[in-house]
Amino acid sequence: MQSPLEQQLQRALERHELKVHYQPKFHLATGELQGVEALLRWCTDTGSWISPSAFVPLLESSGLINRVGAWLFECAASDSAYWHRHGQSVVRVAINISPLQLRERGFLSWVLSICDTWQAAGAGLDLELTESASLPDSYDVVGALNALAAANVRLALDDFGTGYSSLSLLTRLPVRHLKIDRSFVAQLGVSRKAEVIVDAIIRLGRDIGLETIAEGIETEQQLSYLRQLGCDIGQGYYFSPALNRDDLLSRLQLPMPPPGRWRGEVFRGHALS
Ligand code: C2E
Ligand code: MG
Ligand code: MG
Repeated sequence: MQSPLEQQLQRALERHELKVHYQPKFHLATGELQGVEALLRWCTDTGSWISPSAFVPLLESSGLINRVGAWLFECAASDSAYWHRHGQSVVRVAINISPLQLRERGFLSWVLSICDTWQAAGAGLDLELTESASLPDSYDVVGALNALAAANVRLALDDFGTGYSSLSLLTRLPVRHLKIDRSFVAQLGVSRKAEVIVDAIIRLGRDIGLETIAEGIETEQQLSYLRQLGCDIGQGYYFSPALNRDDLLSRLQLPMPPPGRWRGEVFRGHALS
């Protein structure tokens, strides 16, 4: 029996109400754009926004996350190829991966199979695995993640420091980035404990050769704190919220594409319809 929200979500998929927005990330030392994080957005037919924190768990429990996740790859690949064709060669796209997708047999090999097409278009792909749920650590998953890393797909541990994963994951998975959770960033300049934790994460990253990404930067003070501590990359409302495709194009100062000639340019077969 579906809950009312699940029924609404099912209708939303049929009506194409789910969208992908992109939040820019910047190198903190230079201010240069590093890439964007793709974030799902649901605007209902009545114009209200529903947070992914509310509907991603529903996508997971109903099994729809695999279909929506594949569609999101398609959108991001098309958009990314377009940015690259218009000269934005440094932009990497980070996609959030649910632990359920990781457990789906064949998912990571499918990602590997589309990597070539993605990279032929000059685009860089990152995967964000949230640390707040236990990650599958089977030989299959580790092997597939190693194959992706060898294909220059960069792996980030999202919400680092808030979850159940053990530090030993860092030795077993080919992690490239640690994402400092925004609950710590929000406490910079307020809580000494949070400052020590952020400092420790950045040092840990540096000492084992990983880049650190701070999320949820909202103030100048948080930014300068992170810069002083040597954090590599940052994102947050201080720079920009997640933007729809057109607003991102304006931000990147790229031309708008002709209407209707835009989706599925890179690969087909996973449309959400
Ligand atoms: P996340 O991956 O940790 O994403 C960062 C969240 O922080 C996003 O919330 C973003 O909008 C928000 N954020 C960014 N900068 C700021 C800031 O300066 N201040 C504040 N207060 N918030 C900021 P959002 O978009 O609501 O996403 C929430 C979570 O939903 C994500 O956390 C991610 O775990 C999940 N999610 C979103 N899109 C997807 C997706 O495509 N697939 C999967 N599996 N999960 C997704
Ligand atoms: Mg994320
Ligand atoms: Mg996060």
